[in-house]
Amino acid sequence: MSGGEMNAPSARAQYFDGRNSRSTAVDVTLAEQGALAIRGDGFAFDVPRAALRVGARVGRSTWSVELERGASLAFEAGPDAERLLAALDSSPTTRWIQRLERSGRWAALCVLSLVVVTWLFVKYGVPALAARAAVLVPPDVERAIGAQGLQWIDGWLDPSQLSDDRRSAVEAAFERARTAVPDLTGLRLERRAGGPLRANAFALPGGIVVMTDELAHLVAHDDELVAVFLHEFGHLERHHGMRRLLEGSIVALLSLLLTSDVSTVASVGTGLPAVLLQAGYSRAEEREADAFALDALERIGVPRRALGDVLVRIEAETGSSGIPEILSTHPETSSRVDATRR
Ligand SMILES: [Zn+2]
Repeated sequence: MSGGEMNAPSARAQYFDGRNSRSTAVDVTLAEQGALAIRGDGFAFDVPRAALRVGARVGRSTWSVELERGASLAFEAGPDAERLLAALDSSPTTRWIQRLERSGRWAALCVLSLVVVTWLFVKYGVPALAARAAVLVPPDVERAIGAQGLQWIDGWLDPSQLSDDRRSAVEAAFERARTAVPDLTGLRLERRAGGPLRANAFALPGGIVVMTDELAHLVAHDDELVAVFLHEFGHLERHHGMRRLLEGSIVALLSLLLTSDVSTVASVGTGLPAVLLQAGYSRAEEREADAFALDALERIGVPRRALGDVLVRIEAETGSSGIPEILSTHPETSSRVDATRR
């Protein structure tokens, strides 16, 4: 035994082997690299640091140190045990963790990393996840979500008051648009007085397309209605609304995890119409819906410019004060119109 080991912290403890409740009095000495040398009547063994777990101090009387396979040591409180356990706690691994905990700079760095990782995830990971998930949502579920959205919308939009003539023209345009997209199922037109939405149209998951009376009055030609419907069918075909809803939900769950603010999650269920009307779709999504509409217009022999014409008309009518879905990329309207003239 070297002199160093003679000075190593050591203390008396009760050893429990984990198989029965009997204990054995042992001498415990801190050995090389944080291992514990355990010596008792009839047995002697060493436990490496990695196999030890220093338990919480029970009151001020004892500490337990858990060993492998349910075995443990119970130390009587006292200067010997204090010294031994303090030395055990200052083994390299423990010291590193303690330093992390104590150091404000490390803590700040950890928080900063968490913020950056979360931001990257929200910016890139969430949309990618949502795009993948959106196509997996069963049609029944999409329809139920759409129906719920419509219910919410009906809380603040009045029923349509179109004349019979206008109503049949709108319905005929919807049918024409539908013939261009035979693969899309569940399409349904809902007409409402626009109120604050003014001249507008938007799609809800599952196939509901809502059009306001103001838009039906605004168009100069019913081809323009066909173009609007096909644009909305484009959003439906690409599940843009569902993506937005899923993105909103993931972000809400993330912020719940980070802030414990439950109100963010409460908004998920009713969030869709608000999400669509306030945030709108991305520019890329609008261009996708436009491209889908232009292809479809060509298939049924409606001039492509019908889409550009109606975009211009809506912009002139609503300006920038409204929140029309179809204009959600307001500054880009001219480039979207250009695309319809090519
Ligand atoms: Zn759109």
